Amino acid sequence: MIDSVQDFAQVTDDSYSAYDSVTRWKQKEGRPAVGYFPVYFPQEIAHALGYLPVGLLGASGRVGLDMATAHTQSFVCSISRSVFQLGLQGNLDMMDVLVFSNICDVARNLSGITQRNRPGRSVEYLHYPINNSSAHAVKYLREEYARLARRMAEVAGTPALSTENLRTSVELFNQKRALQLRLVHLRQESPWLIPYTEFYSVLRAGSILPVERYVERLEGYVREQEARSSRPKDGVRVLVLGNFCEQPPIQLMKAIEEAGCFIVQDEALVGERWLGHLDTDKSEDLLSTIAQGYVQNLDPMTVRFHPSVNKQEDLMRRVRELRLEGVIFATPKFCEPALYDYMIGKPALDKAAIPYLHIEYEESMSSFENARTMVETFTESILFD
Ligand code: SF4
Repeated sequence: MIDSVQDFAQVTDDSYSAYDSVTRWKQKEGRPAVGYFPVYFPQEIAHALGYLPVGLLGASGRVGLDMATAHTQSFVCSISRSVFQLGLQGNLDMMDVLVFSNICDVARNLSGITQRNRPGRSVEYLHYPINNSSAHAVKYLREEYARLARRMAEVAGTPALSTENLRTSVELFNQKRALQLRLVHLRQESPWLIPYTEFYSVLRAGSILPVERYVERLEGYVREQEARSSRPKDGVRVLVLGNFCEQPPIQLMKAIEEAGCFIVQDEALVGERWLGHLDTDKSEDLLSTIAQGYVQNLDPMTVRFHPSVNKQEDLMRRVRELRLEGVIFATPKFCEPALYDYMIGKPALDKAAIPYLHIEYEESMSSFENARTMVETFTESILFD
């Protein structure tokens, strides 16, 4: 298990800026890599084309933002600036394609500005449907996926997407998502078993390791965690919302737990496991199956609007099912989607008298004492209420 944990921690560290493991993989395999901006990207399509899909999750304060600052406004979130900076200073040169999508206005514009400032390199834009209840949404997204697949095959000179390759890839990513969900559920029930920092690096490694190696390592890791028994510890059970795209500094999440909370659920890397299981038996048109998985999924992933989902009701359902004692809205500075969710969630929590706390973060944050004090006060107010 130590090997797996070290392996996960090493590649997680690599994913903050260097991406050396991607360069080594390319040299060994002679195949292309695609960098994708969060929140969600259909990794199985890239895998079926022979690509290594790699999440662009920001630099966590490890690079200066001078070049990005010269090209962007000061009031945009730090993940968009650090990913842009990494691109400008050459850290993403091993990626044959970079893919952005319309998760928010900032991400939408990041694609254009990256393209303009890295001429001759392939930058693609994936436009997800806005109206997921439309009868045309699945068909539309299927065509978007087909267009992206054609473009990626053209860029890397790989054979066109085949149904058989895609079936194998969907099955592999089904395994990856199922294992990640097992780990998420285990931590929901017994959060004292795995420290959040370890849990996070295990999940984050899945955004950079080749899926075959990740699944093999993760399977052993999850099995060992499930077999562990340890005396339950006390802590205030909280849900952390807002960290679905820009990743909070890991010290902030550590400070939350050290201040007496168990983070029983959060939104870090939610796009990686969001589709759950895709049924490969029913369809010959697997691009439609993947599109359906996105459009018809009613799990209310943040930054995605579905008319059939009432986010307030869903939040209260989670409060009940996860036996939550409080909610922490951890929102990246200048992230409108995360702030919208805060504004939606707040009245529902007020009405039900569920304690909540709002913390703002950015990648370059280096002092966590204020946040720790805020969470300590929050925790004590729950414990001694
Ligand atoms: S952190 Fe928020 S504002 Fe920034 S790109 Fe992500 S969703 Fe958009």
